[in-house]
Amino acid sequence: MTLTNLVLINLLFANLALAKTGLCSSAIQSINDDYQKISDVDTCDLKTKSIQTKIIDTKIIEVRIHLAQDQCQFVQEAKWLKWQIDQSNQLFGKIGICFKMKTILVLGKEWIEMKDQKMRTALGQNRLKSGLIDVFVVGRLADIDIKGEEIRGVHWRNPKNRQKQRWIILSKIAKDFVLAHELGHYFDLPHSTYETSIMNKTPRDYPIAKRGFVEDEYQIMQKAKERMLDDLHLIPIAQKPSQQ
Ligand SMILES: [Zn+2]
Repeated sequence: MTLTNLVLINLLFANLALAKTGLCSSAIQSINDDYQKISDVDTCDLKTKSIQTKIIDTKIIEVRIHLAQDQCQFVQEAKWLKWQIDQSNQLFGKIGICFKMKTILVLGKEWIEMKDQKMRTALGQNRLKSGLIDVFVVGRLADIDIKGEEIRGVHWRNPKNRQKQRWIILSKIAKDFVLAHELGHYFDLPHSTYETSIMNKTPRDYPIAKRGFVEDEYQIMQKAKERMLDDLHLIPIAQKPSQQ
C-alpha cells in the first residue's frame, strides 16, 4: 500500500466519523428538544407538606441522563424518561424533593448491553458529577444472579467508594416506578415486605398505580436526604424567580 493510499483511506474514515457525529448530534439535539417541550408543563410543588406535616421548601435535584444509542438511535424516548421522572416526583414530593432532568448525554453502543458487574462499575465510575444523580439508560441489563435473565434497573456503587460514588442504571424495559424504586435505594431504602410499597419485589395483586412508600420508608429517606444535602452529596438547583 502506498503512502497516498493510506492517507486517502484515513481521510475517508475521518469523514465517515465526522458524518456520523454530525448525525448523532442532531439526534441528541432533537431528544433534548423533545424533552424540553414536554417538561415545560412539568411542575414541582415548591412548598410541600412533609411527613411531619410541616410545610417545607422543595429542593430541586438534577437527574442527569446518560442515554445509550446505536447508529444515532436512542434506546428510549424523551416521553419515557419524563414518565419515569414524573412517577418519582409523585412520591418524593412528600420529603420535599423534586427531580428535574436538564441534560441528556450520549452513551456509545458499547454500553447498550450491560453484561456483568465489571461493566456496571466501569459505566459509572468516571462519568459522575457531584451534587446530582446520574442515571444511565441502557438496552439490556443482565441479571448477574440468574444466567440468561435480565433486570429492569439497579442502584450501583463503586466498590472502591461505596458511599460517595453511586448511580442508577435503568434498562429500556423499565415499567412503572422502576426509577422511583432505584431512587428509593439511593435514599437508603432496602427492599421491604410492605404490601403497598414499591420496595417490595414480590409479585402481588395490590394495584401498581396505588403503590408508593410507607411512612417508615419516608422517615428513612428523609434522613438520607438531610445527610446528602448537608455533606453536599446533593446540591439543589437554584429555583427561578418565576417559580417562587
Ligand atoms: Zn431494588
